[in-house]
Amino acid sequence: PPLYKQRYQFVKDLVRKYKPKKVADLGCADCTLLWMLKFYNCIEVLAGLDICASVMKEKMHRLYPLPADYLQPSERSLTVTLHHGSVAHEDPCMLGFDLVTCIELIEHLEESELEKFPEVVFGFMAPTMVVISTPNSEFNPLLPGVTVFRHQDHKFEWDRAQFQSWALDAAKRYGYSVEFTGVGNPPTGMEDVGFCTQIAVFVKKYPQTSEPAQSKKPTEAAYKTVMFCMF
Ligand code: SAM
Repeated sequence: PPLYKQRYQFVKDLVRKYKPKKVADLGCADCTLLWMLKFYNCIEVLAGLDICASVMKEKMHRLYPLPADYLQPSERSLTVTLHHGSVAHEDPCMLGFDLVTCIELIEHLEESELEKFPEVVFGFMAPTMVVISTPNSEFNPLLPGVTVFRHQDHKFEWDRAQFQSWALDAAKRYGYSVEFTGVGNPPTGMEDVGFCTQIAVFVKKYPQTSEPAQSKKPTEAAYKTVMFCMF
C-alpha cells in the first residue's frame, strides 16, 4: 500500500490496541484520518486542527452523520469538531485527550512554531499518548527525483538521530516515555537507511497524577471552530 495509507494504518492499529475515547489529529488537512477513525466505536470525541481552513473544509462533509447513524443509533455518542488554528497556540479545547496524532506535520512548521510545539502538545495538551510521524531523510537517496526535500513545503527533513534526539528531549522534559518505529520498509540489502517514514510514540509516564497547581491553563480560545457535529 502507498505510504500515506501505511501511516493511517499505523494510527488505526494503535486505536484498536489502546481504545482511546478522545482523539485529536493536529494538521488534519482534508480530514481523511479523522474520517477513518470515525468508525471506531471506542472513540467518543474526535477533533481536528489545521492552519488551513479551506483544506479542512474540502471533504469535511464525510464527517457528518450518515443516514445509518440515525436509523440504527448506537450506544456510543460521537462528537466531531474541526478547529482552525495553529499548533503553536494553546486552546483549552485540546485538553483531556487520550491520543493526539501529528502525521507529517512537524516538517511543515516554521522554526518559531516548532519551538513552541513541545510546550503546546506535551506541556499544555498533555494527552496520554502522542504519535508523531515525519520523513526519514536517510531514505531520500532511494526516492527517485528527490534532491533536497520530498516536498517543497517541508522546512526540514531529519535523519533518525536528529528526530530521536528532538523527541527524547521533549519526552524527558514533559514526563513521557518514547519509542521509535516507522512505516515504509527499505528494499532488501538497504536496511541500514531505516523506514521511509519515522514515527515516535510517546506515552505519559504518570497519567493519573493531577495537573500541577501552578500550571496556567488559559481559558481563552485561540482557535476558531469550523465545524461541530454530534451523533
Ligand atoms: N496529517 C495529514 C496527513 O497525514 O495526511 C496531512 C499532513 S500535511 C502534509 C500537513 C498539514 O499541516 C497541512 O494540512 C498544513 O496546513 C498543516 N499545518 C502546517 N502548519 C500548521 C500549524 N502551525 N498548525 C496546524 N496545522 C498546520
